[in-house]
Amino acid sequence: MFKTCTCGNEMDIRLRTVIYTNKVSIANVPVFCCENCTSSEVMPEIKSDLKQLIKRLGSRPDLQELDFGECNEFAYLLGMATRKELHLRAMDDLVQDRINQLLDLLILASSLDDPTWTKDIERRLLQISDLTCST
Ligand SMILES: [Zn+2]
Repeated sequence: MFKTCTCGNEMDIRLRTVIYTNKVSIANVPVFCCENCTSSEVMPEIKSDLKQLIKRLGSRPDLQELDFGECNEFAYLLGMATRKELHLRAMDDLVQDRINQLLDLLILASSLDDPTWTKDIERRLLQISDLTCST
């Protein structure tokens, strides 16, 4: 999950607010930042979700504020981890809690026969398992 900058410095992960076409502000986007040369880069793991979100907004979106944590599990978990009261909790606990929460939702969604919702939850669970494999 770590990345070395082109200048040789180790980069930090920060949650940034990204402004799209001066109208849409997207909060909690995980970005790699270098304190040495101030370069920054969107995390490769979340790029495709961010692209999809922007594609959905289209070229002339309405004025709005979005939370990227609602589209991407990694952004959600990072947001949780950086909340003060959760600071001391291990990321593993957070991941486990979130998986349980999603599994509950999955049961709910499938019992309500909502395929779109079910698919979304399955996608989120998959994102989490991708994360836990790569770290
Ligand atoms: Zn650098």
